[in-house]
Amino acid sequence: MLTDKKLVVIISGGIAAYKAASVVRGLMALGATVRVAMTPAATEFITPKTFAVLTNHDVLTDLFQDKNGADIAHITWADWADAIVIVPASANILSQVAHGLTPNAVTSLIAARHTPMLVVPAMNTNMWENAALQRNLQQLEQDGITIVEPADGLLAEGYAGKGRMPEPEDVLAAIVEWLVPAAGQLAGKKVLVTAGGTVEPIDPVRYIGNRSSGKMGYALAEAAYAQGAQVTLITSTRLPISVGITVIVIERAVEMLENIKLLYAEQDVIMMAAAVSDYRVAEPAGQKLKKQGELGLTLQLVQNPDILATLGAMKTHQYLVGFAAETQDLMAHAQEKLMRKQVDMLVANDVSQAQVGFGHDTNAVTVLRPDKLPLELTLQTKDEIAATLVALVSEELKRDD
Ligand code: C5P
Repeated sequence: MLTDKKLVVIISGGIAAYKAASVVRGLMALGATVRVAMTPAATEFITPKTFAVLTNHDVLTDLFQDKNGADIAHITWADWADAIVIVPASANILSQVAHGLTPNAVTSLIAARHTPMLVVPAMNTNMWENAALQRNLQQLEQDGITIVEPADGLLAEGYAGKGRMPEPEDVLAAIVEWLVPAAGQLAGKKVLVTAGGTVEPIDPVRYIGNRSSGKMGYALAEAAYAQGAQVTLITSTRLPISVGITVIVIERAVEMLENIKLLYAEQDVIMMAAAVSDYRVAEPAGQKLKKQGELGLTLQLVQNPDILATLGAMKTHQYLVGFAAETQDLMAHAQEKLMRKQVDMLVANDVSQAQVGFGHDTNAVTVLRPDKLPLELTLQTKDEIAATLVALVSEELKRDD
């Protein structure tokens, strides 16, 4: 996949530096020619020898390592590279690059480059959240540098937070995606998917929810991503997902709607697989509710906005896909929703059937479109259903283009 690609992999100082060895091996296994450059701090975590042996090439660590020779390595390497990757990228190197500072061989190489660069930040969560670092990241983005989002999880310090370097296979996938332009039915399209059941608070510890696992939405996000789309997933449930998909975690229906509205204008496709609560508690209690005794407890519910219908009414060019989980009169209800919510495709499933819908890995659906006969997709995995739905949407977009 990466044959003919010449990559400089830069390793900066951080505990995640050991994971860079797997990334370098992976890149080489995919056919890339790799040279490694290390900051002085990186050599405190892992030795240059490791990378020299892995890449079968000298490792650049020092501006003046070719003491008596004519080679100015940071310039010749910058000219040699088709692309540069910093993995892991510490807060220090990111900030130096954002400001154009060149204190060592590695940063000098970066300053001399004329090729694209991708960075894989990895650091303590407090350093990640630091305002100056976030400002510097914005600057890097403005300078055209691609930033891979760090993962959430257990940090070396023993507590959890955002800042972890994603696993080497995820870093590899992100690099491949960046280097090899995505081809696919939805290349160049923006797709927004919602997943999971919304969580409507009753008090700080209780909520109104539903049995949606989010699996169908996640499968759709992956299927659209596999077809080259730029995918955003707005979800209430967390499941493993490709690093290239942007994930926004929300709880309440109104939060979901607010987030969608911010992104709506630029989207080509919206797939509303989320199970949105029709009602929310009018005024969630600020403190945990106490038992009310034999009188019982009455919760005042108010209607949530119908997100899909709101989007249907605001539609400019977006292709809208809705879902309808029903336990009776499936077709009649689904047809009614198709028209009322002004969607382009409604995917109906009878959740009273075994193995269908909420929580299962399989689904069976009927696809309704305003100008077409219903299309039945028999019991199959949610991944298969998602791939078919994405293929149908792609066909519809091509017809409209
Ligand atoms: O009306 P019903 O909830 O069955 O409609 C299902 C479809 O409408 C789903 O695509 C769901 O995501 C969406 N929906 C919504 N906002 C609501 C309720 C449902 O967008 N408040």
